[in-house]
Amino acid sequence: MKALCWQGKNNVRVETVDDPQILNPRDAIVRITRTAICGSDLHLYDGYIPTMEPGDILGHEFMGEVVEIGNGVENLKLGDRVVVPFTIACGRCYFCQQQLWSLCDNSNPNAWLAEKMYGFSGSGLFGYSHMLGGYAGGQAQYARVPFADVGPVKIPSDLSDEQVLFLSDIFPTGYMAAENCNIHPGHVIAIWGCGPVGQFAIRSAFLLGAARVIAIDRFPERLNMAREANAEILNYDEVDDLVEQLKWMTGGRGPDACIDAVGMEAHSKGAIGLYDNAKQSMKLSFDRPNVLRQAIQACRKGGTVSVPGVYGGFLDKIPFGAGFGKGLSLRMGQTHVHRYLQPLLGRIQNGEIDPAFVITHRMSLDEAPDAYRTFRDKKQHCIKVVLDPWDEVAAA
Ligand SMILES: [Zn+2]
Ligand SMILES: [Zn+2]
Repeated sequence: MKALCWQGKNNVRVETVDDPQILNPRDAIVRITRTAICGSDLHLYDGYIPTMEPGDILGHEFMGEVVEIGNGVENLKLGDRVVVPFTIACGRCYFCQQQLWSLCDNSNPNAWLAEKMYGFSGSGLFGYSHMLGGYAGGQAQYARVPFADVGPVKIPSDLSDEQVLFLSDIFPTGYMAAENCNIHPGHVIAIWGCGPVGQFAIRSAFLLGAARVIAIDRFPERLNMAREANAEILNYDEVDDLVEQLKWMTGGRGPDACIDAVGMEAHSKGAIGLYDNAKQSMKLSFDRPNVLRQAIQACRKGGTVSVPGVYGGFLDKIPFGAGFGKGLSLRMGQTHVHRYLQPLLGRIQNGEIDPAFVITHRMSLDEAPDAYRTFRDKKQHCIKVVLDPWDEVAAA
């Protein structure tokens, strides 16, 4: 099959590799019909995630048709159309039983690596380094899906691939970020970062009853997309003091909740002592937690700071005193995708949201190396790329 393989920093290539095979009774093989590039794939592309190896297949947002099933999977049949959550969960451990799917104890065979850094390991993820399981990703023509009796959600035939693909990650991720804000009627939610997750956080905040959403970014195309969802927009390049501006926009009180949908490109910071690029990542850590600092400073007393953006290690100069002094709640973590699949599929079916709004680029898998560059550099007003693994023509 064809697959997009990581080769090293800023280097990905489409290669012909062996088709995946059933390894465990609870596996299924999915023939992928649509896959996407995620902002967090750029951390891999830019070389900031440790434990990647040349040849690793990228991609954690994918869907397709079930073409092979292990004998332990009873709820799927050949030909089922499914979306696969990016977090891999066994469904039986303590954490899965509590619906804390992204913290599954059984899906990361390399848990010891993460334990060294964090004390404990989260779940395995598709296409996201050996530290997080070493699973082949979904920017390919086929993928092996472990615990296929637990993860994949079946899709009714009247919904298109583009309408449901983002159930795999960015829709639930934006939704959980908004849910973590504990939104009540009248609330004002400020959202830093209007990339794909930010866009879904904006719409989810409104779905959950926010009165106002203030969307913060500096790229006009992203701000325009936010405005289309009725968010008030704020270009941080055009204001002197963002925290003061947010106070001014909220009658001096501050937003009821602040969402950091930016995170930082510094997963490698968590690998200090294991990897020799610590110095480089410390420089990043100095830069990037600025959104988190601003969110903590701007949030109203008793409010919530919700962090869907990815952080990796030790953050510097975080105003923890302000957080304590104002009695803030801090919510964060990888998305418990499984928890949201059915409810959000329901919202798509009801017509409350059509997630395809976020797509700006449609390309073939062959064009994926180009697609990564376009997405990373935000060329051609690129916000979200969807890839068709079977389209041979578009590359011409
Ligand atoms: Zn993602
Ligand atoms: Zn589990």
